[in-house]
Amino acid sequence: MAVKNRFAELHNDITAWRRDIHQHPEILFETHRTSALVADKLHAFGCDEVVTGIGRTGVVGVIKGNKTASGKVVGLRADMDALPIHEETGVEYASLTDGAMHACGHDGHTAMLLGAAQYLAETRNFDGTVVVIFQPAEEGGGGGKEMCDAGMMDRWGIQEVYGMHNWPGLATGQFAIRSGPFFAATDQFDIYVTGKGGHAAKPNDTIDPTVMGSQIVMALQTISSRNADPIDPVVVSITSFETSSNAYNVIPQNVHLKGTVRTMSKATRALAEARLSEVCAGIAATFGGEATVEFHPGYPVMVNSEEQTEFAIEVAKSVSGQCDEAPIVMGGEDFAFMLEERPGAYIVVGNGEGAMVHHAEYNFNDETIPAGCSWWAGIAEQRMPMT
Ligand SMILES: [Zn+2]
Ligand SMILES: [Zn+2]
Repeated sequence: MAVKNRFAELHNDITAWRRDIHQHPEILFETHRTSALVADKLHAFGCDEVVTGIGRTGVVGVIKGNKTASGKVVGLRADMDALPIHEETGVEYASLTDGAMHACGHDGHTAMLLGAAQYLAETRNFDGTVVVIFQPAEEGGGGGKEMCDAGMMDRWGIQEVYGMHNWPGLATGQFAIRSGPFFAATDQFDIYVTGKGGHAAKPNDTIDPTVMGSQIVMALQTISSRNADPIDPVVVSITSFETSSNAYNVIPQNVHLKGTVRTMSKATRALAEARLSEVCAGIAATFGGEATVEFHPGYPVMVNSEEQTEFAIEVAKSVSGQCDEAPIVMGGEDFAFMLEERPGAYIVVGNGEGAMVHHAEYNFNDETIPAGCSWWAGIAEQRMPMT
């Protein structure tokens, strides 16, 4: 099949949409302009149904095939939100909003799924129904979860769901995927350590929370090295260490640590949560202080279903002739919630060389568009073929 000719024709249009979205980045659930732009285009393409306000600013479009006798319904999902980063790309269509930029390429994802929606609404060369899903708040807000909680899967009878993310470092328009656990569960935690403050020259009169906190930082690394199965990855990172004093001569009363846990299985996720509390409480007790842990569950492990992954590979190969096995990613992905509700698959498409996502110099590569759009269209047409 290779890249569909129609996407070569639409390439300039889709690029213009992408750059327009890029210039107007919106964070988390605040994707008002982007959602309106998406809804307007879906209406203009002649979608059978366009619904806004699913999961606050999410948008859903429905495209029925020339036949629907198969009863199949496939969901295709893109994310729309930007990041709180000040853009340093220097491109002429750079962000007009200080402190916000499309540094993860969700502008490209939205534009590519719009391009696919236009093509699918024009051709409708499939037996079934396509539901295009545009979600807000992928970057930590759980917009995908909110769309699921709003009953999206049942309301439109979605049976399978597919997602795509651009990937810097992978050749432009090439694909990579893995079956099973792909992206990590991303949980956060606060640790509050309480001791007894006092004069820095009289430590014997204090219970020093900085010493307890330091021991905790080191001991938490044993969750990965001593507690977890070595072939089941877990990352524990302390990302903030703050004391209740900033004087040179005061031992503080309190220390507040922040961090994140990344795991690839439910068992290790539960183990890490339990060990966090045990280690902190145990170390604090050893020194005569106290430590409490607040654990904030984030995105679950994103698990690609086997059958749908095989199918996604087949479509990727038909577009670009190859599909690599992707490595495990310890980053999180909100699409995990949709994959908990329905079988499906999430693929990455090469963005070529350049800055990594979440970097101020990152930019989505518009040359990826024909391959990305063709994969979307192929998912619909090949999963629900006309007989
Ligand atoms: Zn991101
Ligand atoms: Zn992203």
